[in-house]
Amino acid sequence: MDGTLIEGGAAPFYLPQGDECDVFAAAHRACLPLLLKGPTGCGKTRFVAHMAARLGRALHTVSCHDDLSAADLIGRYLLKGGETVWVDGPLTRAVREGAICYLDEVVEARKDVAVVLHPLTDDRRILPIDRTGEELHAGPGFMLVASYNPGYQNILKTLKPSTRQRFVALEFGFPSPMLELSVVCRESGLDEDRARLLIRIAGKLRGLKGQDLDEGVSTRLVVYAATLIARGMGFDRAVEVAMIEPLTDEADVKRGLADLVAALA
Ligand code: ADP
Repeated sequence: MDGTLIEGGAAPFYLPQGDECDVFAAAHRACLPLLLKGPTGCGKTRFVAHMAARLGRALHTVSCHDDLSAADLIGRYLLKGGETVWVDGPLTRAVREGAICYLDEVVEARKDVAVVLHPLTDDRRILPIDRTGEELHAGPGFMLVASYNPGYQNILKTLKPSTRQRFVALEFGFPSPMLELSVVCRESGLDEDRARLLIRIAGKLRGLKGQDLDEGVSTRLVVYAATLIARGMGFDRAVEVAMIEPLTDEADVKRGLADLVAALA
């Protein structure tokens, strides 16, 4: 859990792929929770940070993992200077403040987390805190946003219908080549010609998803490669370390990817 808090200020750069900003704003106005589905590195986290700043809400982000429990989100009693004090978790803080709470990769969390989310994500919008006896009512500013990657295809780690049917959901994919070009140039400072070539390479590598690769190369990795090149690394080496090595450990698959890149470059 990282519980990062972003407050106010200028909205971080986010280039919309469609009407997702309008959907987010409408869900926030209507006090509805939002689920973002899509592969890793396609802009979900940036989108939430952007929207939180645009709506003027603080943002509490929690990266979920298989050990994350309801208590990590709600809070716990801690010993401080010989005294036992209650310390709010990020979800409780967000409810109290009327902030946005973003649960990244929510399917990774332990099962007891769903129990906490249910009364918060229907029209009750309450967060019972058993340990303190409190029952918090979420105000209009509070919004729960969760993301998950359906591409993992892990039958044990999928959202149960009883949980997912409490959310309005948006599907994210990789941006179109034109949008991705703008994102990569803006994020890395790389010139358009070389960025365009990286995006062509990314397109080819994404075409191998399901054959040799579990996941296509993310926009995040294309931005990494572009950033390394903009800072002086050779093109081929940057592609190798940022767009091939992170995708696979299989030597023959890596060789195949490198050949494919060489044919394009
Ligand atoms: P996710 O949360 O889907 O794993 P991120 O939001 O962390 O992905 O995106 C990874 C990186 O890709 C961002 O840091 C940003 O540089 C870039 N990115 C991807 N899509 C966009 C977009 N539409 N607008 C701006 N940046 C983007």
